[in-house]
Amino acid sequence: MIPMVDLKQQYQALREEIDAGILRALAETQFILGPNVAAFEQEAAAYLGVEHAVACASGTDALHLSLIAADVGPGDEVITSAFTFIATAEAIRYVGATPVFVDIDPQTFNIDPACVARAVSGATRALLPVHLFGMPAEMEGLLSMCEGHGITVIEDCAQSFGAQIGHRYTGSFGACGAFSFFPSKNLGGYGDGGMITTNSEETAKRLKMLRNHGSNMRYHHDLIGYNSRLDELQAVVLRAKLKRIHDYNDNRRRVARLYTNLLSDTGVQTPREVGGYRHVYHQYTILSPHRDRIAAKLQSADIASAIYYPIPLHRQAAFANAYRALELPVTERVAKQCLSLPMYPELSEAAIRKIAATVKEALVD
Ligand SMILES: *Cc1c(COP(=O)(O)O)cnc(C)c1O
Repeated sequence: MIPMVDLKQQYQALREEIDAGILRALAETQFILGPNVAAFEQEAAAYLGVEHAVACASGTDALHLSLIAADVGPGDEVITSAFTFIATAEAIRYVGATPVFVDIDPQTFNIDPACVARAVSGATRALLPVHLFGMPAEMEGLLSMCEGHGITVIEDCAQSFGAQIGHRYTGSFGACGAFSFFPSKNLGGYGDGGMITTNSEETAKRLKMLRNHGSNMRYHHDLIGYNSRLDELQAVVLRAKLKRIHDYNDNRRRVARLYTNLLSDTGVQTPREVGGYRHVYHQYTILSPHRDRIAAKLQSADIASAIYYPIPLHRQAAFANAYRALELPVTERVAKQCLSLPMYPELSEAAIRKIAATVKEALVD
């Protein structure tokens, strides 16, 4: 069986360091906002080239707290993609704002700047681009559009830890970047976790209060906050993996390169590499009208594959009433044709060759 992700190999390789760190943290018994969380925040901020990183309990919370910190609320519109995980739009609804879904580019699967421009209205308060599958959204165009309109940009970096445009990392472009450390993400803990990046000291201060009951001094509460902290044990795991994240992502890129070479003459659409963009392949996603046949063939060869995402957000039951009349043709076609193949840094060349050969077989059958 070739799985979509294999977290065991990574743990085996880091076992001594992680186990020792966890035992030390257990001996210290400083489980909430302890020294490993503080150190992780500094190390992550340094890696990403941002002034501040504020750890929290999940990627969903990172999005939610970022929107609160940007004062987005009822009556406001937030432009985003419908081709993403539901948490992106849930966070917009948590603050009482309205998600405005726009179409995507068929090759990068990211929000299409021309569609964003058409969706801007007097009520637009924020833009929430998603760096989907580890491919950075087209930030230059999006940022210059937003500057002129007083629109706050919050990046959904849940799938893009380490992705870059030029020398800059995702999470350093907008007012805030929201990261997830769900175990299967490029930088994953051993439970839930998240983080917000920002270059504003004032925003960082506010986020630190929001994640901890509106308090920066024990039992003094300046605002209504939340219980959304990263725990110390997760911080131990994340510190060990952060040291190696660049290599992990380089290995994902190695896997992707080989897939793309092997699939080049099959007629399936492979992920687009854009000059100057460092795609970190949270997923390696192909497009084919024969998607279901390919998935069935892979399954019969004991190879996992997955459809991210089969139902765009404007077609989800949770939102459907509000978006019944909305049509997003590219999003809808991509949802019908997309298939993600196994992707993790340790995936062997032999496995990649077997997967690619099985995809080819499905297409000649
Ligand atoms: C995983 C993910 C989230 C949510 O992160 P959690 O840590 O699971 O709450 C948000 N947006 C996207 C695009 C994601 O992939």
